[in-house]
Amino acid sequence: MSALRVRLVPCRSDNYAVLLHDEDSGETAVVDTPETEPIAAALEEEGWRLTHILNTHHHGDHVAGNRALKERHGATVYGSEYDAKKGRVPGLDVALKDGDGLRLGDHRFDVIAVPGHTLGHIAYYACDAKMLFAGDTLFSLGCGRLFEGDAEMMWHSLDLLRHLPDDTQLYCGHEYTLSNGEFALEVEPGNAALRERVEEVRELMRQRRPSIPVSIGREKATNPFLRPQSAEIRDRLGLEGVENWRVFAALRERKDAF
Ligand SMILES: [Zn+2]
Repeated sequence: MSALRVRLVPCRSDNYAVLLHDEDSGETAVVDTPETEPIAAALEEEGWRLTHILNTHHHGDHVAGNRALKERHGATVYGSEYDAKKGRVPGLDVALKDGDGLRLGDHRFDVIAVPGHTLGHIAYYACDAKMLFAGDTLFSLGCGRLFEGDAEMMWHSLDLLRHLPDDTQLYCGHEYTLSNGEFALEVEPGNAALRERVEEVRELMRQRRPSIPVSIGREKATNPFLRPQSAEIRDRLGLEGVENWRVFAALRERKDAF
């Protein structure tokens, strides 16, 4: 299998687009299009022609560059079936639902429905390349706000993602890791792996480097939203003996007010 090259493209104040380039076929995808220019500039610098636009959800800071990039490069736009029905992904060509797949050269991407942040949110999982593109569902040390779904739904989505192999590399839609980490330390200060990760992220931010990708295994050890079973978190929230989603719901509420 040919190499899949990855380039993170910082956009707006804290968004990431991710460029993926398959060397053999020459095909290139972008996951989300927060804005046109930085993506167009990165493509030009690499000498890549954009063939696929993969949208995780319809929010403006994820689809704003769709039409201009599609027009410039002739790329095919993919998005969720739910958002297609709502007509809220600009330039959409291919509607995807849970369990669908698509290809970039030899690399297969599986579509996982992860509703909660929005009802149409999907994630793209490249199982051979061991990468997950989670949009605004799962952030490093955090998760997306519940704009359209409820806590039980979002927990189910996160539970699916935390069961992917530990060596899967997580790419998310925003650089929120440091502020997420400050909240995480509030609810699980005794977690040594978390303290180590936050220190590392502080240093990365000082060097103006991205905090992603990060492995799912590491997120499982450090991200409170993937750890509702943690005795320390449950103790701090006063929630022993309840279902995981209820602990998740309490964490999300507390983070919203943080
Ligand atoms: Zn969003």
